[in-house]
Amino acid sequence: MTPHAPSYYAATAHSLAEQPPLAGDVSADVVVIGGGFTGLSAALHAAEAGFSVVLVEANRIGWGASGRNGGQMIPGMRWSALELEEQFGTDQARQLVSLANEAGARVRERIARHSIRCALRQGHFHAACRPAHLYDMRRELDWLERNLSYDGGRIIQAADVGEYVASPIYHGGLYDRNGGHLHPLNYALGLAQAALDAGVRIFEATPAQDLDHGGPVRVTTPRGQVTGRFGVLACDAFMGSIDKRLGRMTMPVANYNVATAPLLSDQAAALIPSGAAVSDSKFVLNYYRLSSDNRLIFGGGEKYTPTPPRDIQAFVRPYLEQVFPQLKNVSIDYTWGGLVGVTLNRLPDFGRRGDCFYAHGWSGHGVLLTTLAGELIADAMRGHAERFDLLASLPKRPFPGGPLLRHPLYVLGMLWFALKDRL
Ligand SMILES: Cc1cc2nc3c(=O)[nH]c(=O)nc-3n(C[C@H](O)[C@H](O)[C@H](O)COP(=O)(O)OP(=O)(O)OC[C@H]3O[C@@H](n4cnc5c(N)ncnc54)[C@H](O)[C@@H]3O)c2cc1C
Repeated sequence: MTPHAPSYYAATAHSLAEQPPLAGDVSADVVVIGGGFTGLSAALHAAEAGFSVVLVEANRIGWGASGRNGGQMIPGMRWSALELEEQFGTDQARQLVSLANEAGARVRERIARHSIRCALRQGHFHAACRPAHLYDMRRELDWLERNLSYDGGRIIQAADVGEYVASPIYHGGLYDRNGGHLHPLNYALGLAQAALDAGVRIFEATPAQDLDHGGPVRVTTPRGQVTGRFGVLACDAFMGSIDKRLGRMTMPVANYNVATAPLLSDQAAALIPSGAAVSDSKFVLNYYRLSSDNRLIFGGGEKYTPTPPRDIQAFVRPYLEQVFPQLKNVSIDYTWGGLVGVTLNRLPDFGRRGDCFYAHGWSGHGVLLTTLAGELIADAMRGHAERFDLLASLPKRPFPGGPLLRHPLYVLGMLWFALKDRL
């Protein structure tokens, strides 16, 4: 069985009994493909709604982005409320932002209900890299307060940034007490345990190789077949492995993280006095937080070619030292990377293919939205599809250029935005 990629998370994962590979043919009401947050949440919600559920995972539970991410619970969607309003009008923007805000509450409820030990901490600080970004954050918070009576956020002036994060490069920011951070692999493993307890049958080391989308749904794996009334496609950056058409809706972009050696507790407290997750306002953003054992977990830079950097530490370290010059030459104990499924417009792609529901393309913003997505998929199976359909109505377009050109065209586009970060 492919183990979890070596990382700080794999080294500190709680145990979950290995689940057997599928051998033989089985049937269920619902067959879920993919054992990350999206698939696990859909499986758990569907089981709670009374469906029998089988989940197949190609590797181990949490092997994909869900077990490797920055653990940042970033409120909202990748688009600001103002961008959503400009594109879709005030009513729809209100509905979308309310849904996104609900996502954070859902994750916290799951953690509490199943006593998932995943080092949950409160607070997210969005750090402004330019004065103009702080101005945009103020307008955003005004919108949230005016339209949704939102009371979770507060604007932090440049002079007060040090109370949140000890970096010299920021011009203020937006602190949101409804954000936070967690140990993502332990959250995924906790969801899997809850799903098993609810009766979900999980098969690890079971890649779906072929899919019949309906009447009934049929999933073929190396040593058996699963037949179901409904399917859930939850493979995010790997969606192309089971559905080529959906695979063209996202681009897998590699992102890298490091975890330092544990810092002394007063050094850690001085670095991020708020204890919040921090992400900054660059297009290719830096994001970081403290772990429960006082390591700095830091992600920075993106790579648009499939080959990983020869040395992840050397790739990420300059970003880390730019944010925290006081950590020059800090020891780094773990490095790892993962694939982010990015859509062309950076909004998630929800929809149906026959009797299969899918949700993917979180564009680096999936820690909160995925848990809610699972709930919306289960609701849709029960005939309550309004909220699923709202997200499915978001505009979607495949990457242009066909299989050969889409990657070079995308790289050109991204390099342009990355250059704007530096101008
Ligand atoms: C390095 C990194 C940092 C990130 N940081 C953040 C962050 O701080 N905050 C945030 O909000 N988001 C972040 N993200 C994004 C977030 O992790 C994802 O949006 C989220 O985890 C997606 O969950 P998922 O369940 O849809 O997909 P995944 O977790 O990728 O799960 C998909 C699963 O499907 C399985 N699979 C694939 N193909 C098949 C098949 N054919 N048959 C069976 N199984 C299959 C895979 O093995 C995998 O386990 C980050 C992502 C990465 C990679």
